[in-house]
Amino acid sequence: MINHLMPDHPNANCNGCVLESRLIMEHELGRYLGPLEVVHHIDRDVSNNNPENLRLFECNGKHSTFHLNEKRYAKYVTSV
Ligand SMILES: [Zn+2]
Repeated sequence: MINHLMPDHPNANCNGCVLESRLIMEHELGRYLGPLEVVHHIDRDVSNNNPENLRLFECNGKHSTFHLNEKRYAKYVTSV
């Protein structure tokens, strides 16, 4: 995870930092992300912040459900 020190950013954390993946997603969308929105890395490499590797989930619940379903599906595929 790459952090950028941007204390004036509206979504900076308590250390004044913003995750690079969130900055890139904001740039792609042309707006700030909401506090509940989660940026997922499609290839699981959190250092790969190429816009094509990023997917936005509206909340962590949907992000977690995506990962759970992915694990269930992987189990199904390996057991066939
Ligand atoms: Zn994810």
